[in-house]
Amino acid sequence: MKVERKTTKPGERQTSRNFRNFPMVPRVVFGAGSFDQLGDILMPKRRHAEAPVIFLVDDVFEGTQLLGRIPAIFDDQIILISADEEPKTVQVDTLVTRIRQSFGATPSGIVGIGGGSVMDLAKAVAIMLNNEGHSADYQGWDLVKRPAVYHAGIPTLSGTGAEVSRTAVLSGPQRKLGINSDYTVFDQVVLDPDLTRGVPKDQWFYTGMDCYIHCVESLNGSYLNAFSKSYGEKAMELCHEVFLGDPSPEESREKLMMASWHGGMSIAYSQVGVAHAVSYGLSYVLGVPHGLGNCLVFNHLQQYYPQGVETYLKMQEKHGIRMPKGVCAGVSPEEMQTMVEVALSMEPLWENALGPHWKTQITPEILSGIYEKI
Ligand code: NAD
Ligand code: ZN
Repeated sequence: MKVERKTTKPGERQTSRNFRNFPMVPRVVFGAGSFDQLGDILMPKRRHAEAPVIFLVDDVFEGTQLLGRIPAIFDDQIILISADEEPKTVQVDTLVTRIRQSFGATPSGIVGIGGGSVMDLAKAVAIMLNNEGHSADYQGWDLVKRPAVYHAGIPTLSGTGAEVSRTAVLSGPQRKLGINSDYTVFDQVVLDPDLTRGVPKDQWFYTGMDCYIHCVESLNGSYLNAFSKSYGEKAMELCHEVFLGDPSPEESREKLMMASWHGGMSIAYSQVGVAHAVSYGLSYVLGVPHGLGNCLVFNHLQQYYPQGVETYLKMQEKHGIRMPKGVCAGVSPEEMQTMVEVALSMEPLWENALGPHWKTQITPEILSGIYEKI
């Protein structure tokens, strides 16, 4: 597994021509119930009756009222997606083939309704409908050649920041890596906190902690700059209110949705760190979901983020979350080696966390020591 290295650190002061020029989501609606505006939002984007809108929807909503509220007209299609496993390149390619074969025209738009998994899938499908080859060819940085078809993201689970980011994270034949490009960013996001009402408590915590960990890693990283800091601090403040305060359920949903947004904006112009690097190894070898993986790892990172871990443990205790144990108990020596290699290949993450000389501070033995505790 290999991770392409960024040539310029985000926000780094070099020559004026080297500052990274990031795209942001151009349109966003926020508010409980705002989902019902989706029909009006999509109408001007419909090219003609034969160019449908494809709604990719987390199958957790099968048989719920939400499906009936989706403004599907003409030849529009609702495709239910299982988020039991995180998205794969082969899944993207299969969906793109299915959509191409079903309709004479390129769709007017793709709408992803779900957590990070379905949102990333929607971004990748929108890109691949307008680009040749396989989605695995585009895992990396700025490899996408043509703009995606119009795509909108509607989170039903808060924390990943996938709604604002310029990446669509996919597991491919050789690696788990995002399609990072300016074309990945959603054209429209609908933030309706009511859609997160039914999230089970553990999942709420794990994905919420993904946001909290984004903040800790961004705010403690060497890539930090005033842009990232301003978003990271706001997201951190909101996480404290949600996970350590006593907000009403409605306030909690609203605040976590905005924390996710700000956390995503913070890492857009900086980078994540140790927890994400180590968690990628867990996810790649054992298929541990992203949020849970980050939590499992973060428990053991006192040395790197003492304040962040202390607060995290308070949050875990306040919400009575019991982490699975013995997750790495049965891994073979080969699997352990792969996990370590995957983690070590995340060079920008280590450089952000530990500085340019990170290789003197982190060794395979240290990493396997962390995995053995999980
Ligand atoms: P998820 O989308 O994988 O969903 C987790 C579970 O929650 C699923 O079972 C899903 O069905 C369920 N769920 C979602 N909404 C629900 C609701 N309203 N009610 C009940 N259940 C609901 O979880 P996630 O943590 O949001 O996303 C993880 C994925 O996001 C990973 O694939 C990860 O790689 C990716 N990710 C992407 C970015 C990015 O910037 N693109 C950042 C971080 C993580
Ligand atoms: Zn994350």
